[in-house]
Amino acid sequence: MEKATHEEYSFFQGVERNFDKAAKYTRFESGILEQIKACNSVYRMKFPVRIGDNIEVIEAYRVQHSHHKLPCKGGIRYSMDVNQDEVMALAALMTYKCAIVNVPFGGAKGGIKINPKKYSPFELEKITRRYASELVKKNFIGPGIDVPAPDYGTGAREMSWIVDTYASLKPGEVDALACITGKPVTQGGVRGRTEATGLGVYYGIREVCNTAEDMKKLGLEKGIEGKKVIVQGLGNVGYHAAKFFFDNGAIIVGLAEHEGGIYNEKGLDIYKVVEHRKATGHLHDYPGATNIKNSAETLEQPCDILIPAALENVINGDNAARIQAKIIGEGANGPLTPEADEILIKKGVIVVPDMYLNAGGVTVSYFEWLKNLSHVRFGRMDKRFSENQNDSILKSVEGLTGKRVSDIERSQILHGPDEVDLVYSGLEDTMIGSYHEIREALMRLDGKVDMRTAAFTVAIDKVGVSYEELGIFP
Ligand code: GLU
Repeated sequence: MEKATHEEYSFFQGVERNFDKAAKYTRFESGILEQIKACNSVYRMKFPVRIGDNIEVIEAYRVQHSHHKLPCKGGIRYSMDVNQDEVMALAALMTYKCAIVNVPFGGAKGGIKINPKKYSPFELEKITRRYASELVKKNFIGPGIDVPAPDYGTGAREMSWIVDTYASLKPGEVDALACITGKPVTQGGVRGRTEATGLGVYYGIREVCNTAEDMKKLGLEKGIEGKKVIVQGLGNVGYHAAKFFFDNGAIIVGLAEHEGGIYNEKGLDIYKVVEHRKATGHLHDYPGATNIKNSAETLEQPCDILIPAALENVINGDNAARIQAKIIGEGANGPLTPEADEILIKKGVIVVPDMYLNAGGVTVSYFEWLKNLSHVRFGRMDKRFSENQNDSILKSVEGLTGKRVSDIERSQILHGPDEVDLVYSGLEDTMIGSYHEIREALMRLDGKVDMRTAAFTVAIDKVGVSYEELGIFP
């Protein structure tokens, strides 16, 4: 995916700028605001790894933005774009993200400056394990300290290498599995974590579209069905978001990946497109769709909802004016620069901010951490009890009415919750509840600010109260 490269663009300063815009609507004195904004700890490391016949010196980071609640939480990305400014910005966003969805963690982020596609799995394992032991050495990882997770370029496999390294360096630590989230289910992961961010994006946008008043202002019908959607990035977030939109009746009109994009106003079948890309190695030449050579131009095609779900800075001062979407949902972290924000807000576009919209990942990470600390699968204690209860209620109702429900209805009514049901339900409730907290803030501010600023005020209020209650500002 091409990123428009503005030499002078600092992602961290962009986050600070957005923070400052919101801070004036909060009640905190400047000292507390400075403390909320500051990155508490920045750990930059370099370590050697033998790759083939050579020794490569790898550059990596872990940044803990805020310790107002512990552990710190945030993913680890593998990308050649990793640098200190980026990791700091992403760590800061994690602080605000956790606050918005009421996940009791401080924000953190990690990154290794590599192109993961250049290495064999064996080499990646060596790099990952070495990174994990560097974190252990400096006390930058642990169930109560700092709990990483997947991010751009990493997934369950990397998480399992990290938890294994951690556990072997800390023999006997009974809660070792809680040192990281996004693990495979067989290694202490929770069901539903893989698709969580994409599902959260869907729940969040569905909530926006269900607010009739806001849809009317945009000249759109209420509801998700029939809305035209473009998704940029078919990684874990973009792919799952597209799938949930598609499965729930939205029309996927455009898809973009680094090699180019495709567009068809009649709609694309996400499952078939993914099969096509697997078979041919690219999105182009998908039957019925128009090829878009320059991937970034896919974002500028007609649609109702645009979901940038890859990297930061893809919609900026250069291309924002050409965006036609009425709603932009930030699946990625920081896909819009502050310049883009200004242009789009003037155009009346609703920008649903990253720190709310992509918080599904960390929300379900929180559930995974709770599962690891409680050492029991969700649903294990109550599934059968619920089924027995439902059975006796149903039998009583049938006895009183003299009618019987069909077998399909019976099994639906009896069904007690499995782990994945509880995870989805917790995520859905979180995304709905947090959306309304942000919307209430918008209303309180009399519609004077955009949704990102409103979300920041919600986050600042929560983090600020925490700092005040810590009593470190007598
Ligand atoms: N990397 C994801 C994010 O940016 C998930 C973080 C987590 O689960 O801790 O929100």
